[in-house]
Amino acid sequence: MIYKINGKWNDCNKYLIKGERKNILIDPGLPDDFDATLKEIKGIVKDIDIIINTHCHYDHSGSDYLYQEYFGATIIIHDREVNHLKNASEVTLSSGLFHRNMVPPKEVIPLGEVLEELKRYNIEIIETPGHTKGSISIIYRDSLITGDTLFSNSVGRWDFPTGSLEDLKGSILKLEDIINKKNISSILPGHGEDGNKYTLSYVKKLLF
Ligand SMILES: [Zn+2]
Repeated sequence: MIYKINGKWNDCNKYLIKGERKNILIDPGLPDDFDATLKEIKGIVKDIDIIINTHCHYDHSGSDYLYQEYFGATIIIHDREVNHLKNASEVTLSSGLFHRNMVPPKEVIPLGEVLEELKRYNIEIIETPGHTKGSISIIYRDSLITGDTLFSNSVGRWDFPTGSLEDLKGSILKLEDIINKKNISSILPGHGEDGNKYTLSYVKKLLF
């Protein structure tokens, strides 16, 4: 079962997967609303075992450390973004765009090391570079969590550090293929409303 916790203001949407064996939170978001979000989460599950970040931007990963401290959760991010997250590098946009002092999580596991384990929890990772080089999308049953790669009526910015329009175009085509082949019924973006059957055709008109 997957639960959406809507991001307030510029915070990202958080997705909680209540699994049979592990509870997984995707993109915990800004630290600001930690207490309120925690309360919401605890209404659904007792523990968070794993955090997966769709990319290292501060509005997605800024509260990773709080979940690591509170639950002892394992923090996972694409191999390319491990060091950005650990060092709160400029790629996280923490000081640049958000004007904040980021507290990185103490330990970060590269995605490449846990892909097989995640498959056991029905989680499949799709590499979707473009918004950042290490951006990923996540398939869980018939849902597709797209981070800042694909929104309901637009795509993520490609002008931040490590972003690339060419990469993003490739990723959108890749997601279109997956949505069709895997019968995806929910598109769950990092900000705003869920996508729908018009999302891809609309976005392709903008990009191509
Ligand atoms: Zn982002």
